[in-house]
Amino acid sequence: MALSPAIMKTYGRIDIAFSYGKGSYLFSEDGKKYLDYATGIAVNSFGHSHPRLVEVLKDQSSKLWHVSNLYRIPEQEKVAQKLVDNSCADQVFFCNSGAEATEGAVKVARKHAWAKNQKERTEIICATGAFHGRTLAMLAANDRPMFREGFGPKVPGFSHVEWGDIKSLESKLNDKVAAILVEPVQGEGGARKAPSGYLKEIEKLAKRYGCLLISDEVQIGMGRSGTLFAYQQEGIEPDIIALAKGLGGGFPVGAVMAKSEVGDSMVPGTHGSTFGGNPLAMRSAEVVIDLLLENGFLENLQQKIKYLDDRIEKLIKNSTKIFVKRKGKGFLRGIELSEKIPVGDFSNLARENGLLLVGAAENTIRILPPLNTSFDEIDFAINVFEKISSSIEV
Ligand SMILES: *Cc1c(COP(=O)(O)O)cnc(C)c1O
Repeated sequence: MALSPAIMKTYGRIDIAFSYGKGSYLFSEDGKKYLDYATGIAVNSFGHSHPRLVEVLKDQSSKLWHVSNLYRIPEQEKVAQKLVDNSCADQVFFCNSGAEATEGAVKVARKHAWAKNQKERTEIICATGAFHGRTLAMLAANDRPMFREGFGPKVPGFSHVEWGDIKSLESKLNDKVAAILVEPVQGEGGARKAPSGYLKEIEKLAKRYGCLLISDEVQIGMGRSGTLFAYQQEGIEPDIIALAKGLGGGFPVGAVMAKSEVGDSMVPGTHGSTFGGNPLAMRSAEVVIDLLLENGFLENLQQKIKYLDDRIEKLIKNSTKIFVKRKGKGFLRGIELSEKIPVGDFSNLARENGLLLVGAAENTIRILPPLNTSFDEIDFAINVFEKISSSIEV
């Protein structure tokens, strides 16, 4: 059936509609079952219909959905405290999406410089391959011009350096720079993990040149790297962290986390979000954080990550004709495919075999399992990869 003309055509949609989801699986209207290793692009961190998430949403939906941030929101204070207790940040601003979080992070960084009377410090340095969202300002933070084309003048104040190249970064730093904005693992850019030691070097440069470090953990944060936040594996402390995607386990919620000396520049009236941090979103986020921090969960996740990695390594070794290399980190994995097989075609073949995946730049197929997936489900996914590689002629 053709897609309704009443939907604006911003997505090249696949002709499937799902009627329900359970655990790691999605069930389509025509009765087919799919292992969901796309997770709504790293959103369904605990799969579908997790009983604890269902329970709190049912409970909260009969009590209170929305109140303005003009009042205290105890559910928000609770989630903020949990995030602060488990990170290097001291305070949190809640919003509804990734772009709102990255955009908010940039506002905090600039306001901090302004409040210190360094009013010239407005420049934001980003990396090649970066993706930070679709607002007008974030279009300028993104690397690929394709995203900006046709949307008017590029918002000033953003420039790019070669991802992984510390020298090119240093050459751009001066007293006009407010912050360096990076994804510890680039998602849309092709599941590209920062080279070892790169983030530590960025942190040192940021300190030396008096600017801030923003970690965009919208995709890799909330457990997907194997730790609660990806920065924690790099021995660094970002000044600002942007979160969204997995934070609500499927409920839309984003966050800007900051150290107090930075966040304190945001005084009443300087920023806001009508829906940000409403009780429904907060109850969902609270469950996600609790599940992640439950005894042994992250250790168990790390074993699954290791298992997936080992299986991917073997897979690539055994079928070099279509699989080029393993990329990414944790459960934001990628496999770069031979140019003979476009990532869209591979994704279609996987779907025909009951496995949902997502493409990324650099002809890379992304594997984004729910964080509570099982070893058996990982086996199923790898078997689909094997089946595809033995069935296609290249
Ligand atoms: C998806 C993504 C965003 C944008 O998030 P939206 O919720 O789509 O606005 C920003 N940064 C990163 C790293 C992302 O992966």
